[in-house]
Amino acid sequence: MNNTYEYTGNLHVHTSYSDGQALHTEVVQAAAKAGLDFVIVTDHNVWVDKCEGYYDYVLLLVGEEIHDVRRRPQANHLLVYNTEGELSPLASDPQGLIDAANQQGGFSYLAHPYEYGSPLSPSLAPIPWADWDVTGYAGIEIWNYMSEFKARMRNKLAALFYAHFPTLGIRGPFQATLRQWDQLLAQGRRVSAIGGADAHGNTYSMGPIHRQLFPYEYLFRCINTHIVTERPFIGRLENDKQLIYDALRAGHTWVGYDLPASTAGFRFHARSGSKQALMGDELARAGATIFEIQTPASADIRLLLNGQIMARTRGEYLKFTTAEPGVYRVEVYRNYRLGRRGWIFSNPIYVT
Ligand SMILES: [Zn+2]
Ligand SMILES: [Zn+2]
Repeated sequence: MNNTYEYTGNLHVHTSYSDGQALHTEVVQAAAKAGLDFVIVTDHNVWVDKCEGYYDYVLLLVGEEIHDVRRRPQANHLLVYNTEGELSPLASDPQGLIDAANQQGGFSYLAHPYEYGSPLSPSLAPIPWADWDVTGYAGIEIWNYMSEFKARMRNKLAALFYAHFPTLGIRGPFQATLRQWDQLLAQGRRVSAIGGADAHGNTYSMGPIHRQLFPYEYLFRCINTHIVTERPFIGRLENDKQLIYDALRAGHTWVGYDLPASTAGFRFHARSGSKQALMGDELARAGATIFEIQTPASADIRLLLNGQIMARTRGEYLKFTTAEPGVYRVEVYRNYRLGRRGWIFSNPIYVT
Protein backbone atom coordinates (compact mmCIF):
# COMPACT_ATOMS: atom_id res chain seq x y z
CA MET A 1 0.00 0.00 0.00
CA ASN A 2 0.95 3.60 -0.41
CA ASN A 3 1.79 5.45 2.74
CA THR A 4 -1.32 6.29 4.66
CA TYR A 5 -2.08 8.48 7.63
CA GLU A 6 -4.82 8.06 10.18
CA TYR A 7 -6.79 10.41 12.37
CA THR A 8 -9.49 10.03 14.98
CA GLY A 9 -12.60 12.13 15.30
CA ASN A 10 -16.08 12.30 16.69
CA LEU A 11 -18.88 13.05 14.23
CA HIS A 12 -21.93 13.42 16.47
CA VAL A 13 -21.82 16.16 19.07
CA HIS A 14 -24.30 18.74 20.36
CA THR A 15 -23.49 22.15 21.79
CA SER A 16 -25.60 24.68 23.63
CA TYR A 17 -26.74 25.97 20.23
CA SER A 18 -29.21 23.08 20.45
CA ASP A 19 -29.65 20.81 23.47
CA GLY A 20 -26.04 20.28 24.54
CA GLN A 21 -24.36 21.94 27.50
CA ALA A 22 -21.01 23.10 26.14
CA LEU A 23 -19.97 25.83 23.76
CA HIS A 24 -17.86 25.03 20.71
CA THR A 25 -14.63 26.05 22.43
CA GLU A 26 -15.41 23.77 25.39
CA VAL A 27 -16.20 20.89 23.04
CA VAL A 28 -12.81 21.35 21.39
CA GLN A 29 -11.04 21.45 24.75
CA ALA A 30 -12.68 18.17 25.72
CA ALA A 31 -11.71 16.66 22.35
CA ALA A 32 -8.10 17.76 22.87
CA LYS A 33 -7.98 16.16 26.33
CA ALA A 34 -9.38 12.94 24.90
CA GLY A 35 -6.71 12.95 22.19
CA LEU A 36 -8.99 13.47 19.18
CA ASP A 37 -7.69 15.05 15.98
CA PHE A 38 -11.03 16.48 14.90
CA VAL A 39 -14.57 16.92 16.10
CA ILE A 40 -17.69 17.74 14.09
CA VAL A 41 -20.56 19.40 15.93
CA THR A 42 -24.01 18.41 14.69
CA ASP A 43 -26.57 20.55 16.45
CA HIS A 44 -30.26 19.81 16.00
CA ASN A 45 -31.73 21.84 13.16
CA VAL A 46 -29.21 24.62 13.40
CA TRP A 47 -26.23 25.15 11.12
CA VAL A 48 -23.72 27.32 12.90
CA ASP A 49 -21.53 29.44 10.65
CA LYS A 50 -18.06 30.92 11.22
CA CYS A 51 -16.71 28.68 13.90
CA GLU A 52 -14.85 26.05 11.89
CA GLY A 53 -11.11 25.95 12.29
CA TYR A 54 -8.19 24.78 14.35
CA TYR A 55 -8.30 25.36 18.07
CA ASP A 56 -4.72 24.46 19.00
CA TYR A 57 -4.29 21.00 17.50
CA VAL A 58 -7.92 19.98 17.15
CA LEU A 59 -9.91 20.77 14.02
CA LEU A 60 -13.53 21.74 14.65
CA LEU A 61 -15.99 21.31 11.78
CA VAL A 62 -19.71 22.01 11.64
CA GLY A 63 -22.37 19.62 10.41
CA GLU A 64 -26.00 19.37 11.40
CA GLU A 65 -28.46 16.79 12.71
CA ILE A 66 -31.77 17.48 11.00
CA HIS A 67 -35.22 16.19 11.87
CA ASP A 68 -38.84 17.18 11.41
CA VAL A 69 -39.87 18.60 14.79
CA ARG A 70 -43.55 18.20 13.89
CA ARG A 71 -43.35 14.47 13.09
CA ARG A 72 -45.18 12.16 15.53
CA PRO A 73 -43.79 9.82 16.58
CA GLN A 74 -40.30 11.26 16.23
CA ALA A 75 -38.08 9.56 13.66
CA ASN A 76 -35.57 10.19 10.85
CA HIS A 77 -32.62 12.04 12.35
CA LEU A 78 -30.23 12.78 9.49
CA LEU A 79 -26.58 13.72 10.05
CA VAL A 80 -25.47 16.11 7.32
CA TYR A 81 -21.91 17.23 6.58
CA ASN A 82 -20.13 19.66 4.26
CA THR A 83 -23.15 21.76 3.35
CA GLU A 84 -23.13 25.50 3.01
CA GLY A 85 -26.22 26.62 4.80
CA GLU A 86 -29.31 25.75 6.75
CA LEU A 87 -31.23 22.75 5.39
CA SER A 88 -33.58 22.07 8.29
CA PRO A 89 -36.61 23.65 6.51
CA LEU A 90 -36.50 20.53 4.28
CA ALA A 91 -36.74 18.16 7.26
CA SER A 92 -40.28 16.92 6.57
CA ASP A 93 -39.12 15.34 3.28
CA PRO A 94 -36.16 13.05 4.04
CA GLN A 95 -35.46 12.29 0.36
CA GLY A 96 -35.60 15.96 -0.56
CA LEU A 97 -33.27 16.73 2.33
CA ILE A 98 -30.74 14.07 1.30
CA ASP A 99 -30.87 15.28 -2.32
CA ALA A 100 -30.44 18.93 -1.29
CA ALA A 101 -27.40 18.08 0.82
CA ASN A 102 -25.89 16.20 -2.14
CA GLN A 103 -26.60 19.10 -4.50
CA GLN A 104 -24.62 21.41 -2.21
CA GLY A 105 -21.64 19.05 -2.28
CA GLY A 106 -22.54 17.62 1.10
CA PHE A 107 -23.37 14.10 2.23
CA SER A 108 -25.44 12.46 4.92
CA TYR A 109 -25.93 9.49 7.24
CA LEU A 110 -29.03 8.02 8.85
CA ALA A 111 -28.46 8.62 12.58
CA HIS A 112 -29.20 5.94 15.22
CA PRO A 113 -31.37 4.04 12.69
CA TYR A 114 -32.56 1.48 15.24
CA GLU A 115 -33.38 2.63 18.74
CA TYR A 116 -34.85 1.11 21.84
CA GLY A 117 -36.49 3.69 24.04
CA SER A 118 -36.65 3.76 27.78
CA PRO A 119 -40.04 3.73 29.53
CA LEU A 120 -38.63 6.03 32.23
CA SER A 121 -39.43 9.27 30.44
CA PRO A 122 -41.19 10.46 27.28
CA SER A 123 -37.93 12.23 26.42
CA LEU A 124 -36.29 8.79 26.17
CA ALA A 125 -38.65 7.47 23.47
CA PRO A 126 -36.99 5.70 20.54
CA ILE A 127 -36.11 7.83 17.50
CA PRO A 128 -35.35 5.32 14.73
CA TRP A 129 -35.05 5.83 11.00
CA ALA A 130 -38.48 5.12 9.48
CA ASP A 131 -38.24 5.92 5.75
CA TRP A 132 -36.04 3.10 4.48
CA ASP A 133 -36.85 3.64 0.81
CA VAL A 134 -34.70 6.80 0.65
CA THR A 135 -31.55 6.67 -1.48
CA GLY A 136 -28.49 8.81 -1.98
CA TYR A 137 -27.22 8.93 1.58
CA ALA A 138 -23.58 8.09 2.27
CA GLY A 139 -24.21 5.66 5.07
CA ILE A 140 -25.64 4.89 8.47
CA GLU A 141 -24.53 5.53 12.02
CA ILE A 142 -24.11 1.94 13.20
CA TRP A 143 -23.02 2.73 16.76
CA ASN A 144 -24.19 5.67 18.87
CA TYR A 145 -23.06 5.73 22.50
CA MET A 146 -26.00 7.59 24.02
CA SER A 147 -28.47 5.59 21.96
CA GLU A 148 -27.05 2.33 23.33
CA PHE A 149 -27.11 3.71 26.86
CA LYS A 150 -30.76 4.69 26.44
CA ALA A 151 -31.55 1.12 25.42
CA ARG A 152 -30.12 -0.15 28.72
CA MET A 153 -32.44 2.04 30.83
CA ARG A 154 -35.25 -0.51 30.83
CA ASN A 155 -36.31 0.36 34.38
CA LYS A 156 -35.14 2.53 37.28
CA LEU A 157 -32.88 -0.12 38.74
CA ALA A 158 -31.19 -0.76 35.40
CA ALA A 159 -30.80 2.99 34.85
CA LEU A 160 -29.18 3.40 38.25
CA PHE A 161 -26.90 0.42 37.67
CA TYR A 162 -25.69 1.49 34.23
CA ALA A 163 -25.32 5.10 35.33
CA HIS A 164 -22.73 3.87 37.84
CA PHE A 165 -21.19 1.23 35.57
CA PRO A 166 -21.67 2.55 32.04
CA THR A 167 -18.91 0.35 30.63
CA LEU A 168 -21.05 -2.70 31.42
CA GLY A 169 -23.85 -1.37 29.23
CA ILE A 170 -21.81 -0.64 26.12
CA ARG A 171 -21.55 -3.86 24.11
CA GLY A 172 -21.60 -3.01 20.42
CA PRO A 173 -23.85 -1.91 17.60
CA PHE A 174 -27.40 -3.28 17.80
CA GLN A 175 -27.81 -6.54 15.88
CA ALA A 176 -30.81 -5.05 14.07
CA THR A 177 -28.62 -2.21 12.80
CA LEU A 178 -25.91 -4.55 11.56
CA ARG A 179 -28.51 -6.77 9.84
CA GLN A 180 -30.08 -3.74 8.17
CA TRP A 181 -26.66 -2.58 7.02
CA ASP A 182 -25.92 -6.01 5.53
CA GLN A 183 -29.29 -6.00 3.77
CA LEU A 184 -28.60 -2.62 2.20
CA LEU A 185 -25.17 -3.84 1.11
CA ALA A 186 -26.76 -7.02 -0.32
CA GLN A 187 -28.90 -4.79 -2.55
CA GLY A 188 -25.68 -3.58 -4.15
CA ARG A 189 -25.67 -0.23 -2.36
CA ARG A 190 -22.52 1.42 -1.15
CA VAL A 191 -23.35 2.26 2.46
CA SER A 192 -20.62 3.41 4.82
CA ALA A 193 -20.72 3.07 8.57
CA ILE A 194 -19.90 5.78 11.08
CA GLY A 195 -20.08 5.82 14.86
CA GLY A 196 -20.26 8.62 17.38
CA ALA A 197 -20.92 9.88 20.84
CA ASP A 198 -24.12 11.88 20.44
CA ALA A 199 -22.58 13.90 23.26
CA HIS A 200 -24.77 16.45 25.00
CA GLY A 201 -23.05 16.77 28.38
CA ASN A 202 -26.47 16.80 29.98
CA THR A 203 -27.14 16.52 33.68
CA TYR A 204 -29.41 13.63 34.49
CA SER A 205 -31.73 13.53 37.45
CA MET A 206 -32.75 10.03 38.39
CA GLY A 207 -33.61 9.45 42.01
CA PRO A 208 -30.42 10.09 43.96
CA ILE A 209 -28.39 10.76 40.82
CA HIS A 210 -28.13 14.33 39.76
CA ARG A 211 -24.96 14.84 37.85
CA GLN A 212 -23.35 15.06 34.50
CA LEU A 213 -23.19 11.37 33.67
CA PHE A 214 -21.36 11.59 30.41
CA PRO A 215 -19.00 14.54 30.13
CA TYR A 216 -17.86 15.30 26.57
CA GLU A 217 -14.30 14.25 27.34
CA TYR A 218 -15.41 10.82 28.54
CA LEU A 219 -17.56 10.22 25.47
CA PHE A 220 -14.72 11.31 23.18
CA ARG A 221 -12.70 8.41 24.62
CA CYS A 222 -15.41 5.93 23.65
CA ILE A 223 -17.02 5.47 20.22
CA ASN A 224 -15.14 7.35 17.51
CA THR A 225 -14.75 7.28 13.75
CA HIS A 226 -11.20 6.71 12.54
CA ILE A 227 -10.17 7.85 9.08
CA VAL A 228 -7.34 6.85 6.75
CA THR A 229 -5.94 9.47 4.40
CA GLU A 230 -3.30 9.41 1.67
CA ARG A 231 -1.87 12.76 2.68
CA PRO A 232 -1.20 14.13 6.17
CA PHE A 233 -3.05 17.02 7.76
CA ILE A 234 -1.14 20.28 7.39
CA GLY A 235 -2.89 22.30 10.06
CA ARG A 236 -5.05 24.33 7.66
CA LEU A 237 -8.81 24.28 7.77
CA GLU A 238 -9.69 23.98 4.08
CA ASN A 239 -7.05 21.37 3.27
CA ASP A 240 -7.65 19.14 6.27
CA LYS A 241 -11.44 19.46 6.09
CA GLN A 242 -11.23 18.16 2.53
CA LEU A 243 -9.11 15.20 3.64
CA ILE A 244 -11.64 14.30 6.37
CA TYR A 245 -14.67 14.57 4.11
CA ASP A 246 -12.96 12.71 1.25
CA ALA A 247 -12.08 9.85 3.62
CA LEU A 248 -15.63 9.71 4.97
CA ARG A 249 -17.19 9.72 1.51
CA ALA A 250 -14.81 7.00 0.35
CA GLY A 251 -15.52 4.90 3.45
CA HIS A 252 -11.81 4.82 4.29
CA THR A 253 -12.88 4.63 7.92
CA TRP A 254 -13.74 2.35 10.79
CA VAL A 255 -15.77 2.70 13.94
CA GLY A 256 -13.74 2.10 17.09
CA TYR A 257 -14.65 1.81 20.76
CA ASP A 258 -11.43 3.31 22.08
CA LEU A 259 -12.07 2.99 25.81
CA PRO A 260 -11.07 -0.68 26.28
CA ALA A 261 -7.96 0.01 24.19
CA SER A 262 -7.20 2.45 21.41
CA THR A 263 -8.20 1.12 18.01
CA ALA A 264 -5.61 3.32 16.27
CA GLY A 265 -3.44 1.24 13.97
CA PHE A 266 -6.21 -1.06 12.75
CA ARG A 267 -5.84 -1.96 9.06
CA PHE A 268 -7.99 -3.90 6.61
CA HIS A 269 -6.58 -4.44 3.14
CA ALA A 270 -7.26 -6.68 0.18
CA ARG A 271 -5.28 -7.42 -2.95
CA SER A 272 -5.97 -9.38 -6.08
CA GLY A 273 -3.40 -9.63 -8.84
CA SER A 274 -1.73 -6.24 -9.00
CA LYS A 275 -4.69 -4.35 -7.51
CA GLN A 276 -5.03 -3.28 -3.90
CA ALA A 277 -7.92 -1.94 -1.85
CA LEU A 278 -8.58 -0.62 1.59
CA MET A 279 -11.87 -0.46 3.46
CA GLY A 280 -14.44 1.48 1.46
CA ASP A 281 -12.88 0.55 -1.90
CA GLU A 282 -14.02 -1.64 -4.74
CA LEU A 283 -11.67 -4.36 -5.92
CA ALA A 284 -12.02 -6.04 -9.30
CA ARG A 285 -10.80 -9.61 -8.90
CA ALA A 286 -7.92 -11.06 -10.85
CA GLY A 287 -8.06 -14.62 -9.56
CA ALA A 288 -8.00 -14.99 -5.79
CA THR A 289 -8.27 -12.14 -3.30
CA ILE A 290 -6.00 -11.97 -0.27
CA PHE A 291 -7.39 -10.15 2.75
CA GLU A 292 -5.17 -8.92 5.57
CA ILE A 293 -6.42 -7.58 8.87
CA GLN A 294 -4.16 -6.08 11.53
CA THR A 295 -5.41 -5.02 14.98
CA PRO A 296 -3.45 -2.97 17.53
CA ALA A 297 -3.93 -5.62 20.24
CA SER A 298 -5.02 -9.21 20.50
CA ALA A 299 -8.74 -9.67 19.95
CA ASP A 300 -11.43 -11.83 18.35
CA ILE A 301 -11.17 -10.89 14.66
CA ARG A 302 -13.93 -11.83 12.23
CA LEU A 303 -13.99 -11.39 8.47
CA LEU A 304 -17.55 -11.37 7.14
CA LEU A 305 -18.72 -12.01 3.57
CA ASN A 306 -22.24 -10.73 2.87
CA GLY A 307 -22.93 -10.68 6.62
CA GLN A 308 -21.66 -14.21 7.32
CA ILE A 309 -18.43 -15.04 9.13
CA MET A 310 -15.90 -16.38 6.61
CA ALA A 311 -12.78 -16.44 8.77
CA ARG A 312 -12.05 -15.88 12.40
CA THR A 313 -9.04 -15.83 14.68
CA ARG A 314 -7.95 -14.73 18.11
CA GLY A 315 -4.85 -12.61 17.78
CA GLU A 316 -3.60 -9.45 16.11
CA TYR A 317 -3.50 -10.61 12.51
CA LEU A 318 -5.74 -12.47 10.11
CA LYS A 319 -4.93 -13.40 6.53
CA PHE A 320 -7.49 -15.08 4.33
CA THR A 321 -7.48 -16.02 0.66
CA THR A 322 -10.63 -16.63 -1.37
CA ALA A 323 -11.91 -16.44 -4.93
CA GLU A 324 -15.45 -15.40 -3.97
CA PRO A 325 -16.80 -11.97 -4.85
CA GLY A 326 -19.03 -10.07 -2.46
CA VAL A 327 -19.06 -7.51 0.33
CA TYR A 328 -16.35 -8.11 2.93
CA ARG A 329 -16.19 -6.31 6.26
CA VAL A 330 -14.51 -6.83 9.61
CA GLU A 331 -15.84 -7.01 13.16
CA VAL A 332 -13.47 -7.22 16.12
CA TYR A 333 -14.49 -7.99 19.69
CA ARG A 334 -12.55 -7.77 22.95
CA ASN A 335 -13.20 -8.91 26.47
CA TYR A 336 -13.44 -5.92 28.77
CA ARG A 337 -15.17 -5.45 32.12
CA LEU A 338 -16.76 -8.88 32.46
CA GLY A 339 -17.99 -9.26 28.94
CA ARG A 340 -17.46 -9.31 25.22
CA ARG A 341 -17.44 -5.79 23.78
CA GLY A 342 -17.58 -4.63 20.20
CA TRP A 343 -14.24 -2.96 19.50
CA ILE A 344 -13.76 -2.34 15.75
CA PHE A 345 -16.24 -2.28 12.86
CA SER A 346 -14.69 -1.66 9.47
CA ASN A 347 -16.25 -0.36 6.32
CA PRO A 348 -16.58 -2.95 3.56
CA ILE A 349 -14.30 -3.85 0.70
CA TYR A 350 -16.50 -4.54 -2.34
CA VAL A 351 -15.00 -7.39 -4.36
CA THR A 352 -16.46 -7.63 -7.86
ZN1 LIG B 1 -30.54 12.12 17.01
ZN1 LIG C 1 -27.71 13.74 18.21
